[in-house]
Amino acid sequence: MAIVYFVVPCYNEEAVLPETTRQLTEKITGMVTDGIISPESRILYVDDGSSDQTWNMICQYHAENPYVDGVKLAHNRGHQNALLAGLMTAREYADCAVSLDADLQDDIGVLNEFVQKYKQGCDVVYGVRSSRQTDSGFKRATAQGFYKFMKVLGVDVIYNHADYRLMSRRALDALSEYHETNLFLRGIIPLIGYQSATVFYERHERFAGESKYPLKKMLSFALDGISSFSVKPLKIISNLGILISVLSIAGLLYALISYLTHQAVAGWTAIIASIWLLGGLQMLCIGVVGGYIGKIYHEVKGRPRYRIEEFLHR
Ligand code: UDP
Ligand code: MG
Repeated sequence: MAIVYFVVPCYNEEAVLPETTRQLTEKITGMVTDGIISPESRILYVDDGSSDQTWNMICQYHAENPYVDGVKLAHNRGHQNALLAGLMTAREYADCAVSLDADLQDDIGVLNEFVQKYKQGCDVVYGVRSSRQTDSGFKRATAQGFYKFMKVLGVDVIYNHADYRLMSRRALDALSEYHETNLFLRGIIPLIGYQSATVFYERHERFAGESKYPLKKMLSFALDGISSFSVKPLKIISNLGILISVLSIAGLLYALISYLTHQAVAGWTAIIASIWLLGGLQMLCIGVVGGYIGKIYHEVKGRPRYRIEEFLHR
């Protein structure tokens, strides 16, 4: 029977942990009783440097609940790094690991299906949202725009799949070979290439606490995803440069003809407008190039992506 680790990153999640622990324990107990997963399966909470009671609660659950294990990171390293820390820890003990959020927005009812697909030989099972009804119109539009834009840029991401997925130990071993500091897991995992399947589910509202992904973080995460997987933006700006150069040749010809035909006009507006436009475009392009250089800077340092301070395991 498969040992499954349910890896749950938690950042200041004291409001949801009691209910999450209750529901997950109930689910695991049911799956163990039905002979679907091994009794050695665990909930692996990863405390991502929380400043509230999260870690104390995890310690308490570990003491009283045989299914709860915990990893404490020394700092807040962000969702992706916390998830990676959990998955790399689970790899040592589990046959497969499922990653899910602490707020249980992702329906745990489909976990049986995840394990079933794993048993049929899939190394990666992607949870895919069947609709986005619980999202605001804005989030829906930006999220879908993001997936489409990624596709245009040639990045292989699973449409409407976030980080709710099962990975076999073999897939986790493969993941451990990707050393990038700018971590965007949903871009990396399709690169692993083993056999995969998708399972559809409904995403709920967060039942307590607040989202740790405000708009600003979400946007920077999306931009990070794009620049970590595609150099097309660099191509787009060079093409833009070529286009503007061609246009400026036409402008030059026009100016020359005006001069030769003695029709030279004051032309102040046109000059000011083009100075601002070109100045702005140049800065934007330098910014894009700078963004990539910044990433190289972080990558070459190769600093550790997380540090585990404590590990509760039995
Ligand atoms: N999270 C984390 N570190 C962070 C931010 C978030 O580990 O710095 C965790 C958080 O505890 C939750 C998951 O990432 O389990 C998803 O966060 P959240 O539910 O706030 O995001 P949303 O669902 O609103 O996009
Ligand atoms: Mg959430």
